[in-house]
Amino acid sequence: MKTIAILGSTGSIGTQCLQLAALHPDRFRVTALTANRNADLLFEQVRRFRPDFAGLVTPPEGLRVPEDLAFCRFAFGPEALRIAAAEVPADMVLVSIVGIAGLAGVLDALKAGRQVLLANKEALVTGGHLVTDLARRMGKPLLPVDSEHSAIFQCLQGAAGNRPVSLLLTASGGPFRTWPRERIDRATRAEALNHPNWSMGAKITVDSASMFNKALEIMEARWLFDMPAEKIRVLVHPQSIVHSAVEFADGAVLAQLGVPDMRVPIAYAMAYPERIATGGERLDLIRLASLTFEPEDPARFPSLRLARECLAAGGAACAVLNGANEAAVAAFLRDEIPFGAIFTLVEDALSALPGLPADSIEDIYEADRRAREAVAARMKGVQ
Ligand code: NDP
Repeated sequence: MKTIAILGSTGSIGTQCLQLAALHPDRFRVTALTANRNADLLFEQVRRFRPDFAGLVTPPEGLRVPEDLAFCRFAFGPEALRIAAAEVPADMVLVSIVGIAGLAGVLDALKAGRQVLLANKEALVTGGHLVTDLARRMGKPLLPVDSEHSAIFQCLQGAAGNRPVSLLLTASGGPFRTWPRERIDRATRAEALNHPNWSMGAKITVDSASMFNKALEIMEARWLFDMPAEKIRVLVHPQSIVHSAVEFADGAVLAQLGVPDMRVPIAYAMAYPERIATGGERLDLIRLASLTFEPEDPARFPSLRLARECLAAGGAACAVLNGANEAAVAAFLRDEIPFGAIFTLVEDALSALPGLPADSIEDIYEADRRAREAVAARMKGVQ
């Protein structure tokens, strides 16, 4: 029996992790749950999974805990994350919060000696060196949940210690894969949220449409697998069946395939090194018939070039990209800016804020704050 704390239990990844815990009650016990504001769903989850602790970071005003949940300890406010990550006993902590808010949770969980199952890519994007250093010092390597990174991690299990010469990150290409740039620039919220293969939270779905998701994943892969950016190639693969691949010195390529279902990588991290049933559909290659691959298109999607430039620049450049992108996506989801402005706002923030340091978590938060400020200042000009 493994115990697990879930930061971000009400989201797309968090709820799928709970589905798996429900499917395997003999293997997993949930000890802590946190969300940002969604009290109704959190309370329902507490009723169902009976954790020792639950918390909301931004509770709605006047919130009261239902009487039947008196068996569970509750906390409200930012400390809820720290308690769930580090205080409540748990073998594993799934960090499935969205955005840079995940960084502190990852560091707290590692410091407490927990095994971190990492869905939140923004923690590695913004603080990759701090997170990987700490994980190494604590002897607790991160278990990736992001499907591409889980695929690479799974391929490496069969590598007998051989280091790959390159990583092949696949990308569905999102809903705008075949659209001309002018149409992408004018895309609506509904069009951006209409992902062809995956059902995910709003932020990552918009990031998939802009390819900033793949940009963040290049950075994530750089830290998880200690691989220079120039050896991380992106392949557009519209069917989302090959979840990523690794190439070795002899030219052999190992890939991991499966239907697009996040329960597979989540279950792999939860039960690692064992494999367990997920209740999902199985891959039928005959029905699928063909798998296709295309090169990335930097002219229509500048996001990948920006990622590589930020990794080359070092310091807090990746944190600036991430903060500017989070602020721009939030503005787009509030219908305040057109889709194309996401690219412009991120690029402008990067030009306005060169050379910021990232030596500590405070430096990273400062770079994030300044990136958001730069986006807010530029917003009027692009409305
Ligand atoms: P969702 O938006 O669906 O869920 C986010 C979760 O985090 C919710 O529980 C939410 O609570 C909570 N949350 C949001 N903001 C904060 C905050 N400031 N502080 C604390 N908790 C917060 O996101 P996803 O599940 O889609 O994604 C989570 C992470 O996993 C992201 O980093 C994403 O990039 C990554 N990921 C997601 C995939 C997917 O298929 N969804 C695939 C691969 C990676 P509330 O409900 O109260 O708002």
